[in-house]
Amino acid sequence: MKKVNLFRSIKFKFVLVYILLILVAMQIISVYFVRELEKQLVNNFSVSLNERANLLTYNIKNEYEKKQTLDDPEIQASIQNLVNDFSKTSDSEVKVINQNSEVIATSDPNDQLIVGKRTTDILIKRALLVNLKTEKTLIDPKNGHRMRIIVLPVEADGEVIAAIKLSSSMESTYNSMQLINQIFSTGTIIAITITSVLGILLASAITKPITEIRKQAQEMAKGNFSRKLKAYGNDEIGELTISFNNLSRNLQQARASTEGERRKLSSVLEHMTDGVIATDRRGKIILLNDWAEDLLNVSRETVLNQSILDVLGITDKYSLDDLYEEPDDVLLDFSEPNKNFIIKTSFSTIQKDTGKVNGLIAVLYDVTEQEKIDQERREFVANVSHELRTPLTTMRSYLEALTDGAWEDKEIAPKFLQVTQDETERMIRLVNDLLQLSKLDSTEYRLMKDWVNFTELFNRIIDRFEMSKSQNVTFKRTFINKERFVFIDEDKITQVLDNMISNALKYSPEGGTVTYRIKESRDQILVSISDEGVGIPKENIKKIFDRFYRVDKARSRKLGGTGLGLAIAKEMIYAHDGHIWAKSEEGKGTTVYFTLPVVDDQEDGWG
Ligand code: ADP
Repeated sequence: MKKVNLFRSIKFKFVLVYILLILVAMQIISVYFVRELEKQLVNNFSVSLNERANLLTYNIKNEYEKKQTLDDPEIQASIQNLVNDFSKTSDSEVKVINQNSEVIATSDPNDQLIVGKRTTDILIKRALLVNLKTEKTLIDPKNGHRMRIIVLPVEADGEVIAAIKLSSSMESTYNSMQLINQIFSTGTIIAITITSVLGILLASAITKPITEIRKQAQEMAKGNFSRKLKAYGNDEIGELTISFNNLSRNLQQARASTEGERRKLSSVLEHMTDGVIATDRRGKIILLNDWAEDLLNVSRETVLNQSILDVLGITDKYSLDDLYEEPDDVLLDFSEPNKNFIIKTSFSTIQKDTGKVNGLIAVLYDVTEQEKIDQERREFVANVSHELRTPLTTMRSYLEALTDGAWEDKEIAPKFLQVTQDETERMIRLVNDLLQLSKLDSTEYRLMKDWVNFTELFNRIIDRFEMSKSQNVTFKRTFINKERFVFIDEDKITQVLDNMISNALKYSPEGGTVTYRIKESRDQILVSISDEGVGIPKENIKKIFDRFYRVDKARSRKLGGTGLGLAIAKEMIYAHDGHIWAKSEEGKGTTVYFTLPVVDDQEDGWG
């Protein structure tokens, strides 16, 4: 946790402000008090000095009135006594000067020589001549003391008879002032010391809950909500503490519920069988689940923060605005030459409470299989329509010709009727084949299996073809005539063999040979029928088992084929848990193989 610097702490600031306030208050009080006190003291000093000066002038005047002169030595002695008395009672120096500016008495015992001498003091002259009283404060150049000077004329019968000059030191007054100042300073220091201590205690009391709230906020930022703050009172800080505890509890609940939602969401996303991608407002990927990674074959680290348009590879077809308009499902074709892979993507927008669009959600589904089925269904419908239309068109034209009068022609009419009959039969064959395929496709389809000697079955079918064949084709059987029991639906396998042999005959050249083989292993028999016919191009060899697939359409149709024979055969062999395939060399011949599983004799105890 970051520690707050002491000098920046609220506690320090609090104490500092507190001390400064007290200091300022003390300063204001002391300046005002000392100034007022000084004024008062100086005033008192001056008043008292004046009173005494007046008393002295009154006494001198009394002495003068005794003989109406001041030159009398007796009178002068009395005045000297008055002056001495005066200076005894105060720290003052007094001089009495007569009308002729001669000093007649002085209180300074060290300066008695001055008595009888004329003074040149201008203040005294002014008092003697113009009866002017002077009062002022001077600094004594000898010792630097402040002196209060009063020069007072002494009047008798309306005339100035003398003047007195009083010089009184004010040092004692100022010394008292200094003492008071000192007392004040000491008081201030004591007050500040005591109030500082009190301030620190007070600041601690106030800042303690704040410091604790701060610590709690820091803990909350780290995700620790377990601490509870103690409320120290019912004041604002106490209420703040209670509010903070409530806030902490609400935050903890909100966090827990957000965390729960997040966990639920991520669990849903991870267990979804669809890929999910979420983006921010600018279309940059912020989230994708494992399934989306798999579908797009990308790693989360590389695509996070990438544009969804780039990752889906649809930059040239769509803009971000197009996606925000929630387009219909977008098909992404990631097919490779030998592997189809198609993803369907649905987009929806994430909106804020304000309705503002805040991002996109893309849901990806693998629709390869579905697309394949859809494609096959479309092709199937087109093929069926086409296969039916051809015989129907032929029939219509022959019937039209007959209606138009050909029925009267004894030679043509039977031929035309034969054609319509052939086409009708072809259609019946086609519809029968289709019905059979539809039965094979249905889930309720069941095989009527029984133990059958395959060698015997095979021979029987070959014999049938041998007897009825019109072509000049030789049949060659290269298998040993021995019992080979298989658990099969005889009708279905007969149908497979019929189709294979009739194909071999159909595509065999004049004088060709059809070879029949049976090979057996421990768990299966392998049957093959080879011809020396036109063969099948290599690239088409696998497709001959597809519905309606014919290498040479015109030829197959001429030979009466529907293009469904091998497709039916494949379904039937697969229903027997076998395999069917073909090998061919163009111009040299074709061999069609199939396998059937053989159940071990010992295993089922049969035979
Ligand atoms: P069809 O009714 O046309 O014979 P099939 O499903 O039996 O339909 O056969 C599909 C296609 O496979 C045929 O149209 C033909 O082009 C080809 N095919 C099947 N068997 C042979 C074969 N023995 N020799 C050459 N081509 C064959």
